Amino acid sequence: RQQPQDFHEPPHELSSIKKVIGVVSGKGGVGKSMTSAMLAVLMNRRGYHSAVLDADITGPSIPKLFGIHTRAVADELGCYPVRSRTGVDVMSVNLMLDNETDPVVWRGPVIAGAVKQFWQEVIWKDVDFMFVDMPPGTGDVPLTVFQTLPVDGIIVVTSPQELVGLIVEKAVKMANMMNVPILGIVENMSYAVCPDCGKKLYVFGESHVQEIAARYHLPVLAQCPIDPELAKQADLGVIESFETDHLDKAADVVEALLKE
Ligand code: ADP
Repeated sequence: RQQPQDFHEPPHELSSIKKVIGVVSGKGGVGKSMTSAMLAVLMNRRGYHSAVLDADITGPSIPKLFGIHTRAVADELGCYPVRSRTGVDVMSVNLMLDNETDPVVWRGPVIAGAVKQFWQEVIWKDVDFMFVDMPPGTGDVPLTVFQTLPVDGIIVVTSPQELVGLIVEKAVKMANMMNVPILGIVENMSYAVCPDCGKKLYVFGESHVQEIAARYHLPVLAQCPIDPELAKQADLGVIESFETDHLDKAADVVEALLKE
């Protein structure tokens, strides 16, 4: 039987990408983009060169988090990602549109084609870690992404509002089909901290992530609180100045990929 890896497309000949991490979620709005962006920022802070490939074509939010409003440029060799203030390379459909508020109303195959182009026609120079902000769900676009890009590991982002068991099970099945390991689960918006007394408030009810993770033998890499400061900095496009230690364990697991 041919392994799915056999179908992976080579990147641009001038690209150098050491590790590719897919960031997935069951539905939109759980913080998948925030996690992709923050992990890229954290790896950059650790002295690596990171990149984000925004494969969430119909809901691209990566450029906004980094406050990038310029367009990507291309020459006869290929297209270049846009470099953020602190040095994270970003490619997103938003950097190609004439107007960044234009909606992307494309059908599945066209969307998948765009992701392929981001992989094959963009010159990603000396990237240690590329985070791929995947479209939510387990539809044909994420599938094409996994077939095109040699993903080294997947991070599943969930929130306590979700039926986390179902999402993790789907992610595990997809990862098995693609022969890609799941690095672990990041639970986002797990709780809020009362600004007056410091008490944790479980606004979305009790989390089930630990038991689900144990069932599938996956580590819980983070339980991130709802943080108004994060929301504010994300809105202002200054995510790179956000300080957090909640994603340190996730960053450790990503860093370990290079040392395998
Ligand atoms: P997704 O990629 O899953 O659709 P986003 O990363 O775009 O989700 O996050 C959805 C919204 O929630 C964004 O406005 C983001 O800034 C905000 N957000 C994400 N995580 C947090 C958090 N831990 N605390 C506060 N706001 C958050």
